[in-house]
Amino acid sequence: MVPLATPEGYGREVTSVYSGTAVVPGIGVGPAVRPAPRPTAPDGEAATDASTTTVAFGSAAAEVARRLRERSQAASGAAAEVLAATAGLAEDRGLATFVSKHASQGAGPATATSRAIDELAAMFTAAGGLMAERVTDLYDVRDRIIAELLDLPEPGIPTPEEPSVLLADDLAPADTAGLDPSRIVAIATELGGSTSHTAIIARQLGIPCVVAVTDLHEVEAGSRVAVDGTAGTVTVDPDETEIARLVEEDRRTREAAAGWTGPGRTADGHEVQILANVQDGAGARRAASEPIEGVGLFRTELCFLDRSTEPTVEEQADIYAEVFEALGDKKVIVRTLDAGSDKPLAFATHPDEPNPALGVRGLRIGMADPGILDRQLDGIARAAERTSADVRVMAPMVTTEAEAVWFAERVRRRGLPVGIMIETPSAVILADRLLEHLDFVSIGTNDLSQYTFAADRMAPTLSTLTDPWQPALLASIRMVAEAGRRAGKPVGVCGEAAAHPQLACVLAGLGVTSLSCASTAVRAVGAKLASVTIEQCRAAAEAAMEAAGPAEAARAAADLLT
Ligand code: PEP
Ligand code: MG
Repeated sequence: MVPLATPEGYGREVTSVYSGTAVVPGIGVGPAVRPAPRPTAPDGEAATDASTTTVAFGSAAAEVARRLRERSQAASGAAAEVLAATAGLAEDRGLATFVSKHASQGAGPATATSRAIDELAAMFTAAGGLMAERVTDLYDVRDRIIAELLDLPEPGIPTPEEPSVLLADDLAPADTAGLDPSRIVAIATELGGSTSHTAIIARQLGIPCVVAVTDLHEVEAGSRVAVDGTAGTVTVDPDETEIARLVEEDRRTREAAAGWTGPGRTADGHEVQILANVQDGAGARRAASEPIEGVGLFRTELCFLDRSTEPTVEEQADIYAEVFEALGDKKVIVRTLDAGSDKPLAFATHPDEPNPALGVRGLRIGMADPGILDRQLDGIARAAERTSADVRVMAPMVTTEAEAVWFAERVRRRGLPVGIMIETPSAVILADRLLEHLDFVSIGTNDLSQYTFAADRMAPTLSTLTDPWQPALLASIRMVAEAGRRAGKPVGVCGEAAAHPQLACVLAGLGVTSLSCASTAVRAVGAKLASVTIEQCRAAAEAAMEAAGPAEAARAAADLLT
């Protein structure tokens, strides 16, 4: 990275600006801290007999799991879930079996742990998607267990005395989940994408965050840095006057967000519904405490990630009813199981696919086994009858008109309004024809990016391609919004794109009628939208679509949205 000397910078210390993908807006300034180095299994670790190794591993793993669970109980929401899931990995039976195998071949406890985790990580990587994403968790568990075995301090994030900025290659979910926002005021990582665990937790905690920052490793611990989670930059030795201005602007933005009471509309009264994404009853209750007009995406598959068998219709009805009840009489868009690929469900996923993201996932699972879909629709219909929520149903991963017709017929038979997610280029191209059979559509920008750019949404090295500011993605969204306008039917966005305040304005300018995002992002999105006119949004949308790339698009839009 070449230091950037601006004209104002001449005659003072040189400033370096590093760029990445902006994921949580806001400014954080302070000395840089980096996670403590991770232990490695010592070379030539003395062999122990198999049972000594197995027992040592067992008690170290149990201690690591106990600590993680303790922190999970002290946390809430996604942070609590991530910590509990990582604790579960430490006690995974498959891991213990691999350790025993290496122990019986004479490896000492730290070596056996390291080899066993390598084997498990190779299996997770081969599975792809969400499983591959858990490899970071696995290595984190390995390091914690080895530190415990070698009597070293627990690896991970320091607890700094003064408010600091956390820089890292990547963060283990267990580290991020335990963060204290009063000590860690911003996060920047060299790896990770806008849907990574780091991003999800940072968003939940409201910590400004930039990921996929090129050359971030060059920034030394102790340097004074400023992270701008809106612009996607990390500035070393920032200009203090400029930073003071940005910090003040950030303070005003946060104040406006805290004071926003809905409903969603621009300063000149153009209505855009602001909705929340949820995955269970607890999340729905949290969302209901925000000024939302409903739920735009209920990810039902996430209720069943730990189930080895399909839940009964009645069990499903209870789970869905808990979410509906939390929303009173508001709108709730339930998505049928989006199993497969990054969200494998033991009872529904087709195993051993060479490329699960392009395999039998989403609606294709229901089409291959209509019983699964019918039982889920029965569960949703029963829950809808028991509550007063305005329930609608949509299917993930629809690619053809025949699929939309097939799905719509099954949902309508149960008396519920029906829509689909637009997540593939074919659905964009067919939007007019699909809408003839549906009541609404909702654009899933996470997958639409992945399939439009042929770039794995989880791959940190491809995060520029899957950046939601990509002009081609914005143009696709406009095609769908225009189809919705012609049909007189709503077109929402429920991917991560809807959580960026500036991008949300651009989406409104493209003609999107609702925005559904993490409930922690709702206020910032609503407040930003309320500060601009629909004409500004349209001009920003035009400028962003005409830009050369995502960074230029974000800058062009920002200039028109102030
Ligand atoms: C999307 O693809 O944008 C979406 C909202 O669905 P998911 O992230 O659950 O795949
Ligand atoms: Mg999707």
